Amino acid sequence: MEQQDAQSVIWDMINYIDASPTATHATVEMAQRLEAMGFKRLNEEDAWDLKPGDCFYVIRNYAGIIAARVGAEPPETGGCRIIGAHTDFPGLRLKPNGVYSKNGYLQLGVEVYGGPILHTWLNRDLGLAGRIVVGEDGVPGDVMLFEINRPVCHIPNLAPHIRVKRTEEIKLNRQDHFPPILGLGDKQALEEKPLLKAVAAEAGVDVDEIISCSIEVFDLQPGTTGGMNEEFVFSRSLDNLSSCHAGLEALKGAPTDAPFTQIIALFDNEEIGSGTMQGAQSGFLDSVIERLCIATDRPREAFHRTLANSLLFSVDGAHAVNPNYSSSHEPRHHPMLNGGPVVKVNANERYTTQLEAHAHLKACAAAVEAPLQTFVARTDVGTGSTIGPMTSTRLGIRSVDVGSPMLSMHSSREVGGVEDQLHMIRLLTEHFTRL
Ligand code: ZN
Repeated sequence: MEQQDAQSVIWDMINYIDASPTATHATVEMAQRLEAMGFKRLNEEDAWDLKPGDCFYVIRNYAGIIAARVGAEPPETGGCRIIGAHTDFPGLRLKPNGVYSKNGYLQLGVEVYGGPILHTWLNRDLGLAGRIVVGEDGVPGDVMLFEINRPVCHIPNLAPHIRVKRTEEIKLNRQDHFPPILGLGDKQALEEKPLLKAVAAEAGVDVDEIISCSIEVFDLQPGTTGGMNEEFVFSRSLDNLSSCHAGLEALKGAPTDAPFTQIIALFDNEEIGSGTMQGAQSGFLDSVIERLCIATDRPREAFHRTLANSLLFSVDGAHAVNPNYSSSHEPRHHPMLNGGPVVKVNANERYTTQLEAHAHLKACAAAVEAPLQTFVARTDVGTGSTIGPMTSTRLGIRSVDVGSPMLSMHSSREVGGVEDQLHMIRLLTEHFTRL
């Protein structure tokens, strides 16, 4: 039964990731799944009227989304149980005036977003996706998403035979070595606007209707399970769409009459420091929690009491031990794939492991028999950070950082454990259940 459950859960996660070539797509796909669960969209510019049991979601700037089920108790006594994660992932994004011709090729000028392992983008089948603003006579109207699900782009490597130093690996230069080739063509071919034409065709509009666009390159290879016993999952963007998916599944499986408000807060732009209006440094989550109090007619003090009564799990990918580089890990902390959720610890608070939140997480794990692991970095290397410390600092909410173990984080293809998604969903569901 376990195996069957883990497989169906992992394939639902793979489908979620495959449908999400950009953070905006991940947000829209999330919204569709929430709608199917009976959640209704609220807009920040409207007045909100919320009652216990109401299920709603809010999208900010296309790529950040917060969903909540209002608790049965008043917010100041019931508090909030929150799951935080992020919708974005490292990659390549098209520059303005991005299409050019060089040596008979049509190419795309790209910027690097976040910190991808760059060489993993070479020789991959790459598609394009993004959003466009359309309108008539230059007056902006709808925002539309598009996805070119064909290998229209490729970043070619250099054969060793013609390298200046034949035996040495090339040190990749971001400006020079990453423009994908889009086809063959000279300057004249550019006048045909080949890229905009393809985007317009995908979106079902005329080229002239496109007022602006943001375009990202993505890896086309769909996710899959693998390994001798199907114990692995191979996919792009496991960091951190796997956590977004786990948060949603927890919301789905949790009781609908809990005393506390259940919230999933999926922020954008974690990979570049979270400093945007839909990132974890913004007031997005504060605003939703405060309006929850206002809508149920509470005084301002209730907002502060609600924060003090809340608990946050900040869920983001963790580093499993890589057998080929095991010396990069702290020798007594070796998270394993399929070993269960990993609590992240850092003395310098790059990760948050607040005492009560950590104890609550342990109690949740014990209740659902989810194994737990711990990550701490070697003392002589730095470590990443995530939305936990930021949200906790900003709001004063007790928080703990946790995540599923993975290999090759920030590669164009990451590796996870099939069982871990199920373990994480059980843990998070208990966070939304436990009194
Ligand atoms: Zn992450």
